[in-house]
Amino acid sequence: MDLHESAAASGGRDSSHEYDPREYAPTLDAASARARAWLGAVFDRPIPARRSIDEVKSALGRTLPEHGSDPAEVIERLADGVEPGLMASQSSRFYGWVMGGTFPVALAADWLVSSWDLNAGMRDATPGVVGAEELAGDWLLELLGLPATADVGFVTGATAANFVGLSAARHHVLAALDWDVNRAGLAGAPPITVLVGSERHGTIDLAARYLGLGEPTAVVSDREGRIIVEALAEAFERITGPTIVCLQAGNIHSGAFDDFERAVHIAHDAGAWVHVDGAFGLWAGASPRLSHLTAGFEGADSWASDAHKTLNVPYDCGIAIVANPDAMHAAFGMRASYLQNPDEAEPHDKVPELSRRAHGVPLWATLRWLGRDGVAALVDGLAASATAISAGLVELPGVTILNDVVYTQVTMAMADDEQTLELGRRLQSSGEVLASPSRWHDRAVLRFSVSNWATDAAEAARTVDAVRRALPGL
Ligand SMILES: *Cc1c(COP(=O)(O)O)cnc(C)c1O
Repeated sequence: MDLHESAAASGGRDSSHEYDPREYAPTLDAASARARAWLGAVFDRPIPARRSIDEVKSALGRTLPEHGSDPAEVIERLADGVEPGLMASQSSRFYGWVMGGTFPVALAADWLVSSWDLNAGMRDATPGVVGAEELAGDWLLELLGLPATADVGFVTGATAANFVGLSAARHHVLAALDWDVNRAGLAGAPPITVLVGSERHGTIDLAARYLGLGEPTAVVSDREGRIIVEALAEAFERITGPTIVCLQAGNIHSGAFDDFERAVHIAHDAGAWVHVDGAFGLWAGASPRLSHLTAGFEGADSWASDAHKTLNVPYDCGIAIVANPDAMHAAFGMRASYLQNPDEAEPHDKVPELSRRAHGVPLWATLRWLGRDGVAALVDGLAASATAISAGLVELPGVTILNDVVYTQVTMAMADDEQTLELGRRLQSSGEVLASPSRWHDRAVLRFSVSNWATDAAEAARTVDAVRRALPGL
């Protein structure tokens, strides 16, 4: 029985819904039309979701159907049910969390990745996607100015990439003391100290937790959230034993970057491994105008980033980079034999997953499309819009900008917390601008994270104007 017959014979199927699963076109056409309609309106629609999770479930239909139905109809039902429940995070005036939109080329490449449906974990089986991913990895190292000898693994996001970096670190700092954590585990191992800035991202703590390293030891940060280098040096005076230092490229409130030159030097002098969380900040290294922010980061041992924030690639595209490929392969390799020949390492020997989609292919397409100067212009443009938003906001009555705007983040507050929260609510209900309510330096703040390629000077001006219109009475 072929697929068609088996579909037709599945019983109870409405005969008007008979279809041949080999005919992808009608279903893909339906999806493409809905995608184009969504994307065509996403810059103008109100940003917040209008439908709750409960309403979405009702719209989709809560009952598992007894019988099959037409796949194009399923796609229509999906889009009809879900879209009112979507937040327009691709809007050029969406500044929530740190998110980013999607470039057409990145989205189109991502569609191909799904169409090919390959498991990108194995070199011999899938040379096509592995070739594109390896090029993307090489180009990225070149673009950022990281060591060409480093190895790159593709994961779902910077959370997973932080985990990869700290996994390689854990293996390496213990191996240096002749402790093979793969064989002997952690029980009885020399205790590892993880030093972090007090304003590290929470996913660093998660990575340490997954790895059985416990709670990191916080080193005090300055007002912008940068680790205080003298405090780091002092911390080393109290530590003996294996140590991992986590630095940050891009603080979510201030956009600030740690002083890599000095911090890496101090950590390496003490024999520590240095990991850099650069989820959205690593990309400053690709801009000649902003790479002063990342100066010295190339001396670190591992880096975590993603392309779904700053580079505007669809989810999920995380990037884990490790300077010493052996440490990465030792932490994640499934076979012992690769140790003799690191060139034999498979993509799955670099990351936690065995089966995964080809996260790196949309990255390749986006780098190919933008080129070196296009990536620099993208990052410069985001930073320029952040500067413009900050310059506009600071002129408004009652508004204080709390950070030095060096990159893509702007954090503001009103005179008191209630006013700040109320401004956030008013912006949200305007539907025109969305900023993240947050707390920083013990006060309520609104954070504008400029992460979308479409946030240009005009959108920055419109953003400031929307805030101005929301202020009266505050
Ligand atoms: C977003 C973010 C992360 C986590 O990255 P995901 O891609 O969401 O997994 C880690 N660190 C920083 C600084 C971030 O901004």
